[in-house]
Parts: sequence; C-alpha cells; structure tokens
Amino acid sequence: MVPILHLLVLCFLQVASQIVSRRRVLHLKKKQSRKRLFFCGIINDMSVSFIVFYFFVCGLIIGSFLNVVVYRLREQETLLGRSFCRSCQHQIRWYDNIPLISFLILGGKCRDCRAAFSWQYPILELVTALCFAFIGQYFFQWDRPETWLETGFLVGITSLLLVIAAYDLIHMEIPITILMIGFGWTVLFLLLDMQDFRFFLWDRQVQALLGALVVGALFFALVFISHETWMGWGDVWLGALAGLIVGLSGALFMMTLSFGSGALVGILLMILNKKNMKSQIPFAPYLVLGTLLTLFLPHMFPEYIARMLL
Ligand SMILES: [Zn+2]
Repeated sequence: MVPILHLLVLCFLQVASQIVSRRRVLHLKKKQSRKRLFFCGIINDMSVSFIVFYFFVCGLIIGSFLNVVVYRLREQETLLGRSFCRSCQHQIRWYDNIPLISFLILGGKCRDCRAAFSWQYPILELVTALCFAFIGQYFFQWDRPETWLETGFLVGITSLLLVIAAYDLIHMEIPITILMIGFGWTVLFLLLDMQDFRFFLWDRQVQALLGALVVGALFFALVFISHETWMGWGDVWLGALAGLIVGLSGALFMMTLSFGSGALVGILLMILNKKNMKSQIPFAPYLVLGTLLTLFLPHMFPEYIARMLL
C-alpha cells in the first residue's frame, strides 16, 4: 500500500510541477512581450516628448527673437545687433540673455543698473514656446514627411501673428510689413500645398480665398459703418489674413472666438474700472488668439471640434 501511495504522490507532484512550470513559461512569455511593448511604448513616448521639448526650446529662442522684432521694428533699428539695456546702454551678456531663465534668475532687472525689464519679454517667449510645443505635438510627425510642410508653415505664421499681436498691444498699431510677410508666407504655403493642378482639387485654396474675402469684407463693413471707432483699417487686413489662414469653414469659429474673447476681456476691464466704453482696445491680440485656437483646437479635440467645423 505504501509504495502505491508513494507512486501516486510522485505522479501528482510530477503533474503539478509540469503544470506550474508550463504556467511559469507562459507567464514569462507574456511578461516578456508585455515588457517589450512597455519599452516600445516608453521609447515612442520618449521620442514624442523629446520632439515636443525640442519644439518648446526652439519656441523660446524664436520668441526671444520676436521680442527684438517687436521693439526694433518701431525704432527702425537693425535686427542683427547685440541687445543692450534700454536704461544704462550696457550690452547684455550672453549668459543674461537666455530666454525665460535669465529673466527669472535676475528677477526681471538689469544686472548693471537694476532697471526693470518689461514683462512682455518672458510672456512672448513663453507663449511662442507653448504654441511651438503644440505644433510639435499635434502636427509634426518625424516619420511622415507630408506633415513637414504644414509644420513649417504653422511655425512661421504663428511667429508672425504673435509679433502682430504684441506690437498692437504695445503700440496700438498693426505693423504693415509683418502683415504683408504673413500674406506672402500663407500664399506660398497654399501654392506649395497644391497637390494637383486640376481645379476641382483645390479645395483648401478655394476655401482660403473665400475665407479671406468674406472676413475681409465683413470687417471692411464694420470699419466703414462705425467710422473706425469699432476697429481700424489694419484690423481689416489682419481679418483677411486670418480668413486666408483658417479658410471659410473655420471663419465663423475664428470670429466667434475673437469677438467673444475681446468682449470678455473688455467687460472684465470695465468692471475693474481700467477702461470705459470709449477707450480703445487693441483688437489684433484677440483676432490672433481666435486664429491660433481655430488652427490648434480641432487637432487637440478632434472628436468634438473638428466635427463641428466640417
Ligand atoms: Zn541697465
């Protein structure tokens, strides 16, 4: 009896160990593939976040240059010279000229004379960097060269629009040179984007042209009726450019966001007693905000906004 029992126990142990080992092998295999997937995911995530980070840093550097454009365009200075403190005329050292970081380290003051620098510098740098990071995240794909053209266009037009917004905010005027470069840049992109020379395939180009005409005509009417009290002639041209960029399908969305944000800030300023009904509020920043949001939002929330626009 004892040997039989012994044999049975042995058999049981054998079968049990086989089951366990097979399970372990299966488990290990699963774990390995999961591990591989996990690492692939990490590498993929890493390359995406590296691209976004890279775009962010480029945005900081370009934003720093845009500040120079906003300031020197007014004074008709060269864009190439080294920057200097407006108060003590000292040249700014290279290590005090690192976008955003230097401003934070120095507390927004000149190292030599402690004169305060404008908040415009870090804000424009940060906004440019965030816009570039968005473009890197939602438009640029390293392995798909067909996305590169649009990425290049967006990086350029965003920079130009941000200069126009900052310039209008500071000087209450729309810089016509930058506006014309914006038109040239957008038309160049639309021409390069033409995949076919058959007319019925020029959907985007026709949309853009109609958008520019409709928004331009509407703003023209507003300026004409209000005798330039609601907005200026510069806004008409900027409106046409915005229409050209977002196209007819995005025009209504763009105008809603622009007028909506403008009205909201206007009401807030009135409540805070900073402005009254008659004081001039620059409109370009809101128009630029509306245009950029119309470009970015459908890519950030494709299931909601893209469907709304089509
Ligand atoms: Zn100084």
